[in-house]
Parts: sequence; structure tokens; C-alpha cells
Amino acid sequence: MPIDWATIKHFSPKENWGDIDLIDPRLIGVLDEYRDDLGHAVHISPAVGAVCAQDGHSKDSYHYPVFVSGKLVRPCQATDVFPDCDLETAWLCAMRHPAIMGIGIYPCWRYQDEHLSGGLHLDIRATPRRAMWWQDIGGYKNLRTWDDIYLMLSYIH
Ligand SMILES: [Zn+2]
Repeated sequence: MPIDWATIKHFSPKENWGDIDLIDPRLIGVLDEYRDDLGHAVHISPAVGAVCAQDGHSKDSYHYPVFVSGKLVRPCQATDVFPDCDLETAWLCAMRHPAIMGIGIYPCWRYQDEHLSGGLHLDIRATPRRAMWWQDIGGYKNLRTWDDIYLMLSYIH
């Protein structure tokens, strides 16, 4: 499943992808479109397993490539990023993309000595409804109701 880098404007094979052969090429295309729409730099997280990972995420994470009988049946479809703008704008932009079906908001993540605070998990899971959550110091919280959203926004403002 090769990635056609000639079609990708904002990212290169040198970023912290992990095993790039196990990544869904659509993920990188969608991320590139997201970056274009956002109009700000989007840095792949430098953390181990920020894109394609073997462990370190929740059990059914879309960061993991899925194998059945040794055959790749679902490549990695998730990436953790630091958008170079406020988190609210970055979140709204992610919701505008029809293929970004999993969005996690992590206000506590820090990048490059506090240069950027707050990151996003973005994934292209093939589900009919978008999954949205955020994490504060108390743990994971769903984003399903307006009250959830107001609480999240008051936290990241
Ligand atoms: Zn993630």
C-alpha cells in the first residue's frame, strides 16, 4: 500500500510515522487536507508510537495495524499531532473534515518546551458516527452533549 508522496504537500516520509508500510495511505492524505484547511503547521507528535504503534494506546486503538493470520487487514489509521494554533480552532477544523471520524483533545500535551500546549488525536476509523473525547487531569471524558463541550472549552480556553 504505497503512499504517493508527490500528492502530499505538507508532510514527508521523514516524520515520526513509525512503520510507514503499516499506515493507511488515506490517513496521510486526510492529514494533508486537514493541514491545508487549518492554515497552520501541524506537527506529528515526537512521542513513541505517535502514528503507527505496537502498544502504548488503548486496547482497540486505531494506531495499531490489525493482522489476521499474519495478514494486514486494517492498517494504522490514527495520528497524534500538535497543531500550531489554538486547540479550539484545531478541533473545529478536524470536525469539518468528513473523513476524520475519531477526534481526541489532549490539552495537557506539551511540545518543544511548552512552545505548543495541547494536541489532538485524529483518526479515520470507518464508523458511521464520529467518536469524540477529551482528556483532562481526571481522565477521559466523552464529548457527546453541549455540557460536555462547554466544559471542555472552558478548560482549554
Ligand atoms: Zn492517538
